[in-house]
Amino acid sequence: MGKCKKCSQPATVYLVRHKLSLCAEHFIDFMEGSAKKTIKKYKMIYPYEKIAVALSGGKDSATLMHLLDSIYGETLELIGLHIDLGIGAQDYSKNSLERAQTLCKKLNREFMVIDLNKEYQISMDIVKEKENRFSRPYCAVCGTFKRYLLNRYSLNLGCEKLATGHLLDDEVSVLLMNIINGNIDQLVRVGPNLQGNNSTLITRIKPLYEISELETTMYTQIMGLGFQEGECPYSLGASTSAYKTLIYGIEEKFPGATMKFLQRFHKMLLPPLKAYYQGTEGVKLNQCSECGGPTTEETCAFCNIKYLLTRNE
Ligand code: SF4
Ligand code: ZN
Ligand code: ZN
Repeated sequence: MGKCKKCSQPATVYLVRHKLSLCAEHFIDFMEGSAKKTIKKYKMIYPYEKIAVALSGGKDSATLMHLLDSIYGETLELIGLHIDLGIGAQDYSKNSLERAQTLCKKLNREFMVIDLNKEYQISMDIVKEKENRFSRPYCAVCGTFKRYLLNRYSLNLGCEKLATGHLLDDEVSVLLMNIINGNIDQLVRVGPNLQGNNSTLITRIKPLYEISELETTMYTQIMGLGFQEGECPYSLGASTSAYKTLIYGIEEKFPGATMKFLQRFHKMLLPPLKAYYQGTEGVKLNQCSECGGPTTEETCAFCNIKYLLTRNE
């Protein structure tokens, strides 16, 4: 690994895609610098905004909260928002909640839990129990829960934006999945800064957009951040994980390829795709007749799932 490129002390990490050896201190600077650069480039955050941070209890969102706290300090109001998904096996939800709560306490940041079971009388365990009522994989149902609740509660809390811990690897795997499945219209719906409408849809930002999973792993180790290390018992068969494996394989052979792909996508593919889809009718957002949330249909996906789970058979 050799010496740190910045200070010549013994290096702690080697960043393959940047061909860079760094000591712990300069690696922390590197992570803060990377997040700052992304935030500036995509005009994500302005001082004194109130931002909800989606905290799953895992390492990516722990890194996100920690970095935002270090970069902005008192100049940003951050609220950790955690969803208790009601996953009992291996105490998964219990441990995740504890991790997220402990982090906010340590950083002295506001924390809020949305308890799916208490608030809506549904949970991921009930999804498992009634799986014959769904044709979708667990993670797709869970994703609907998360998107809906994070949007609703961050708006209710009066936040300007919702920050999520999506990483470079997550974004590229979704792009790849959509390309391979021919869902080209979906390609314009991804990105680091997704504008909301200030009433039913919050603006969603991804400050870790250009940071890799390997880098967050090293950051949590160096900073000694506690996070949920166990794997979700319902994660088996998650479609994005196959694409992620593919990306790791490519990255191993061609370090930096993932980032290059994302940059070229933004520069060369996204503008003509946006122009094309804006030229067509575009998607019109209605208000769900049950909950008032955003939807392209009569009722939103969350209310539809809730109905499937709570109706009598
Ligand atoms: Fe939800 Fe799937 Fe993540 Fe488990 S792995 S928390 S089911 S999205
Ligand atoms: Zn150094
Ligand atoms: Zn609804």
